[in-house]
Amino acid sequence: MVPIQMVDLKRQYSKIKPQVDAAIQEVLESAAFINGAPVQQFAKELEQYLGSKHVINCANGTDALQIAMMALGLEPGDEVITPSFTFIATAEVIALLRLKPVFVDIDPRTYCIDPQAIEKAITPKTKAIVPVHLYGHSADMEAIMDIANRHKLYVIEDNAQAIGSHYTTKNGLTKKAGTFGHIGCTSFFPSKNLGCYGDGGAIFTDDDAIAAKIRMVANHGQSQRYYHDTVGVNSRLDTMQAVVLRIKLQLLDEYITARRAVAHAYTSAFAGIPQIIAPYEAPNQLHVYHQYTMQLDGADRNELQAFLQEKQVPSMIYYPVPAHRQKMFEGMTDLNQHLPVTDALTGKVISLPIHTEMDQDQLSHIITSVQSFLN
Ligand SMILES: *Cc1c(COP(=O)(O)O)cnc(C)c1O
Repeated sequence: MVPIQMVDLKRQYSKIKPQVDAAIQEVLESAAFINGAPVQQFAKELEQYLGSKHVINCANGTDALQIAMMALGLEPGDEVITPSFTFIATAEVIALLRLKPVFVDIDPRTYCIDPQAIEKAITPKTKAIVPVHLYGHSADMEAIMDIANRHKLYVIEDNAQAIGSHYTTKNGLTKKAGTFGHIGCTSFFPSKNLGCYGDGGAIFTDDDAIAAKIRMVANHGQSQRYYHDTVGVNSRLDTMQAVVLRIKLQLLDEYITARRAVAHAYTSAFAGIPQIIAPYEAPNQLHVYHQYTMQLDGADRNELQAFLQEKQVPSMIYYPVPAHRQKMFEGMTDLNQHLPVTDALTGKVISLPIHTEMDQDQLSHIITSVQSFLN
């Protein structure tokens, strides 16, 4: 059996090697390493895929979030509501810009921000909400946009883990995750569902004025060449990454199908195991399974991980310490704040390998290993 990895990028590359190698070779020969034609071509193709009016590329997902917050003109001391149960980048950029992170709890089924908790955390200083579509499942965007509209708040979606996911509103309108809020942000880190071969990210919006501001902030605050109207950053997607992304965007829906097949095989195999709570799929959403993260109830997580490791089955804990308990936020938030769902789930979640290249032997081996530990 081919050794099992959390994500198998080598095997994925081997299937697209001829196209990728040719495209990279072309970039080498063109020497247009920065702002080559494929950079804009990719942005246009992603606009089409997402159904978003503007896609602005940038250097990584963390920059995408930072640029989004800068473009909205948030000021030091403004409060930004976000889940604590996320990758640190979401909250880190809030603090970096001297905004105040306000951490709230999540829905135990979806692992995403709880709209009711948002409503309770709103103060006169609240300016924005940053929901995170964790593990590939979108937050409840209809409820969140309703709250945001009533309180005149901005919404920046952290879509780093859910590109390609979609959500259907009560009126039957289906839109891609990341396109409900004022701004959506994503990452093309290699292991993400749409990953490049280095760092990359993108910001999307339907608002022309916000898009213009984002382009300016991402490019040294420049309105026209050598005229700098605002303090910005330097954040670009390079041409090598754009050619890889153009190839992989064509395959994204196939990749999502492959991930979902693995997830559904796990979920049906574990259905009879009372100690496993499988990931939830809201009926109005497409879960794209960036991670297959289940909850253990009444089983020892460390022992399961050790057992799986012995069987050459990797597993991960995303994330062992929630953001609201991280030392970096000392003085900005109460590190002892109790977020019951977040604090409980931090001790219960475990993620199994999931990627686009899992074969039947590997899948059966992972399933049998989990079953034999828990039976
Ligand atoms: C990966 C990720 C980011 C950051 O993306 P980078 O490209 O690594 O900077 C932000 N938020 C979430 C939820 C992520 O998973």
